[in-house]
Amino acid sequence: MLYTYSQSRKWYKGNTHVHTTQSDGGKSIKEVCEMYHDAGFDFIAITDHWKAYRKKESDPDFDILTIDGIEIDGNDASGHYYHIVALGPVADMTVDPCLERSIEILVAQHAFLILAHPYWSGNREEDIKKFPFHALEIYNHVCSWLNGKGTCAYLWDVALEDGLPLFAIASDDAHLLPAHPGWNGGWIMVQAEELTQTDILTALRKGRFIATTGPHFKSISYDNETIACTTGDIVKARLVGAGYSGDRLWYGGDVFNEFTFDISKNPRLKNSPYLRLEIEDANGKIAWTNQL
Ligand SMILES: [Zn+2]
Ligand SMILES: [Zn+2]
Repeated sequence: MLYTYSQSRKWYKGNTHVHTTQSDGGKSIKEVCEMYHDAGFDFIAITDHWKAYRKKESDPDFDILTIDGIEIDGNDASGHYYHIVALGPVADMTVDPCLERSIEILVAQHAFLILAHPYWSGNREEDIKKFPFHALEIYNHVCSWLNGKGTCAYLWDVALEDGLPLFAIASDDAHLLPAHPGWNGGWIMVQAEELTQTDILTALRKGRFIATTGPHFKSISYDNETIACTTGDIVKARLVGAGYSGDRLWYGGDVFNEFTFDISKNPRLKNSPYLRLEIEDANGKIAWTNQL
């Protein structure tokens, strides 16, 4: 078990993938910030296509923390197609036909690299291993709406089973256009020290966040024997390990708000190279922890 969720640290709600009129989005940065602020978000990353957002001291305050970011895309030398969201204070970039070089530039600037909507892009496991991603999008709201390819749990589990410590992000990829109207459908809750870009990015690098399309974890504690959580209203909880190992709780559809998994008598779970949790609410919305 690798990563520590705190029992006391506050959760901040954020979206890591949004487009504005700086690229192909339908709303300005100001409008997007107002919408997300009014919907209860604490922070939002502005990730326009090949157009880095970098907040300056002189920029207006939007009543919501903005995180610097960019989305790049293209084919690698093998012809494999990628979309990559990079978070952090990266410099503006021009479209470069050499995707490898663009990724090198982002890595040199210490960006937090997210493999965006891998199912929609057609990515396979070999694609995840090729570049130093910190996370992948376990849920992308727009791709889910476009053709149902918004999730990628299989790819994530295969990567974890092979020892790749990837984190999972849920995002909107909001474009806010008539053809792409969806937003507030997938987000992360981050346990950061303070609501600042530095602290949010530090928490992301440590995996101190959960991804969700609705339900929420309030507390997550574990040792080598027991995993105990408190949550919002849910009807299912799943402990997911390698291969077919796992456990689940369900009470005929009744709502519950806390649960415990005892793995001490389950050698398959105890010896699994990774464990993660999923919870599900009555509407079928899901939340995912990172690897515990
Ligand atoms: Zn994309
Ligand atoms: Zn996008």
